[in-house]
Formats: sequence, structure tokens, C-alpha cells
Amino acid sequence: MRIDVVTLFPGMFGSVLGSSILERAAKPVANPADPGDVRAPVASYHLHDPRAFTTDKHGKVDQSPYGGGPGMVLQCQPVFDCVAAAEAQQPELKATRIVLTPKGVPLTQPLAEELAVQPRLLLIAGHYEGFDQRLLDELEPMEVSIGDYVLTGGELPAMVLIDSVVRLLPGVLGKAGSHHADSFSPGSANDAGQRLLDHPHYTRPPAWRGRGVPPVLMSGDHAKIAAWRKQQALELTQARRPDLLSPAKKAPASLDQASPADSAGPLAVVALRDAMPADADAIDALLRAAFPSDAEAKLVRALRDAGDLPIELVAELDGRVVGHLGFSPVTIDPQADGGFSNPRFRALALAPLAVHPEAQRRGIGKALTRLGLRSCGDANLAAVFVLGDPAYYGPLGFEPADPHGFTNPFHQGDAFRVRFLNDTEPTRGTIGYAPAFAALED
Ligand code: SAM
Repeated sequence: MRIDVVTLFPGMFGSVLGSSILERAAKPVANPADPGDVRAPVASYHLHDPRAFTTDKHGKVDQSPYGGGPGMVLQCQPVFDCVAAAEAQQPELKATRIVLTPKGVPLTQPLAEELAVQPRLLLIAGHYEGFDQRLLDELEPMEVSIGDYVLTGGELPAMVLIDSVVRLLPGVLGKAGSHHADSFSPGSANDAGQRLLDHPHYTRPPAWRGRGVPPVLMSGDHAKIAAWRKQQALELTQARRPDLLSPAKKAPASLDQASPADSAGPLAVVALRDAMPADADAIDALLRAAFPSDAEAKLVRALRDAGDLPIELVAELDGRVVGHLGFSPVTIDPQADGGFSNPRFRALALAPLAVHPEAQRRGIGKALTRLGLRSCGDANLAAVFVLGDPAYYGPLGFEPADPHGFTNPFHQGDAFRVRFLNDTEPTRGTIGYAPAFAALED
């Protein structure tokens, strides 16, 4: 992921981006077993100062506000030219533009997850009273806030956002997926799909200043430990953040809310979450409404019944399931790879992506796909295949699969596309679908 930051104070970033996990993410990764095998860094950071672009002969970038009042306002020209110059550095990589402002949508874990599947972020930090409104109208960025308080500038918010996103990128945290069970994260969810606070943690020594460790954690009984942790997480959430358990709780911000440019329809609060068994009928109804025949509804049920839908997501709008995306297993040369059981070569096919006709043109499908790809990355998969419109899937990182040496027994051409994940090289060859999928293709 490339991260550009437009800031009047680039000097503030050095120690944060140059320390700990954020520093490691920007370093090439060497393979200890093979000194010649050096992988590109997971993230790169690029700082741009609007002061270098001002046309003001005194070097100013701010002016007093029209209409009077305290403070100074950042002018359009230097910031706009700085953004243009930053984006021109790698024009083929489209940036998601984000302005940090207390007036934006709250930065939440689900929003960080959605941002983590973008190829490039361009963050714009304000100062003084903020930006001339015309700059925001021209750039149409997402506007993101890190909380209901006001800071001097957008530099600290930009660093907070970068940290929340970069730690989610595949390969950044030592143990893959170790962020999955953190507070607010997908693995913290209860059976109702509500994301909870993390449970307490303990480590050596067993006694410290007269305080012991809950005996269950020393019992070695993994089922009991998991149940204890679940209960602790629930009690802690009830005590400290009952709002997270409220049935009326709206989903946290997603790209759909945050980006006017992504939404042709009215802005809406959309929740993206893992599908649950109780969603089966709603998914069925959605697929029947979204497709002309019932083939997709039958396919999804057959895949699910066969246990061949390891990743299945839904989008909810006002408590109604309006979007669905599943991923089913694919084999590539099962003989050579050891088939689906070999994690190095595991790949999934994107099963029907469906958005209810009344909820289309709001970016729900793209948001579901981005989240699905993130889940696939977390599951250490090597690649995802899709048969679909190149204009839709191209910007989501899917490339034509034929030139990469994959063949599809049912299809050839540009619509057969692959998205690589996790820098893992999958074996090339003929892909094989899960049996229910293959039955549909017949
Ligand atoms: N006049 C603005 C308002 O009341 O909304 C506050 C401007 S603030 C003093 C200066 C800059 O700090 C903002 O342009 C923004 O970039 C950044 N900033 C301050 N608080 C923030 C927050 N909670 N989240 C994101 N950015 C923030």
C-alpha cells in the first residue's frame, strides 16, 4: 500500500513512521531461507508539503476568513497543487483521498479494515481553522474524524489512521491475523454479530504482588478457556460499552457513508458483517430479487450446505440484508499442490456478488468485495478468481487470469480474472471449482 500525506509539518512524522511496526512495514522483507528472495515492503510513506507549491510571493498558504472571525483558513491553490503533484508521482495507482477533520465520519475498526484493502491512501492534514470549503468540493475526499475533540492539526489524526490501517496489512504483524480478535475486530463478535471489547490478558509470573492468575487459564482446557474469555469480553462490554450491544446500534462508518463520490444514491448507514445461519432465508430472498433466475440462490445454499462457503458476508441497510458475497474453494493442479488442504496454494472463487436492486449504486458491492478480499488475505489465501466485468473488478485489483497462466475449464478471456493476495505465488494451471459451482457452470 502506498500512503501519501499532505502536511504543513512533515517533520512531525519521522519518529512515528520510523518506529516499531510502522517502520517494519516499510522495509523490504528478506527470506531467511533464501538470501536472494527479498520481497517489496508492505507499505511506503510519502510526505508532501503544500508550502513548496504556493504561488504567494511571501510563501503564505493561509489567509484570514471571508466574513471575519478568528483564525486563518488554508487556501485552495497550494493544497490542490500539492495533491496533484503527489498523485502524479504514481498516476496508475488511484488514491483514496482522505481529509482529516473533526467534522468527518468517525474512524472505526470496520472503516480501518475497508481502508486496508485500498491500494493507495492520500491523507490531507489541516491546520488553523481548516480548509477553504471549495478545496473539499473540488477534491471530493472522504472526511474522517478520529474523535469528538479538536486538535491543533491533522498530523496526529493522520498518524493514528495510518497506524490503524497498516497493522492490518497482510504480513505486518508477526503472527498473521493476530489483530483478528482485538477489540472491535471481526473475531471479537458474539453470535449476534456485535463486535465486543477484548477479554483480559495475563502472562508470567503466576503470582505478582499477591495477585494470581484466573485458574482456568492454567487449566490447559482450551474449550473452558475460550468460554471464559468470551464471558469476560461480554461482561466488560456490558459494563463499559453497552452501546456496542444495543440492538438499535447502527453500523459504524464505512466507505459508503464516508465517500460521497462512491455513492450515486442517497447516503446510507450500511453495516458489513459475516453472514450468520439466521441470515439464510434473507440471503435467499435477496439473491432471488437480484438475479433473473433462482440459480444463484440454489448455488449459494448448495455451497453452504456442503461447507464450501468459508467466507460469506452480508451488507445490512436499516436492519435488512441488501447485499451478499461468498467465496468458495478452488483447486489449482490438486496433484502437484496437495489440493485445497495445502494452505500455500489455497484460492477462492468469488461466488455471486449480489446487491438488492433498491440498494444499488451506493458502493455496497465494492465495499463488500473489499472486505471479502481483506478476509481472504487474513485467511492466508494466495489468490481469488472471479468471472466478471473487467471495468468493475479492475479497480478492485483483479487482472486477466489467462496471461498469468491460469485456465478455466468453463471460460476464457478478459472476464476470467485473478486477484493475488499475500505475495504468495500460487501454482499455475487449470482451476477446479467446488462441486456445486461446477454443477452450475454445466
Ligand atoms: N475549525 C475546525 C472545526 O471546528 O471543525 C477545527 C480545525 S482544527 C483546529 C485544525 C485541523 O486539525 C483540522 O483541519 C483537522 O485537519 C485537524 N483535526 C483537529 N481535530 C481533529 C479530529 N478530531 N479528527 C481529525 N482531524 C482533526
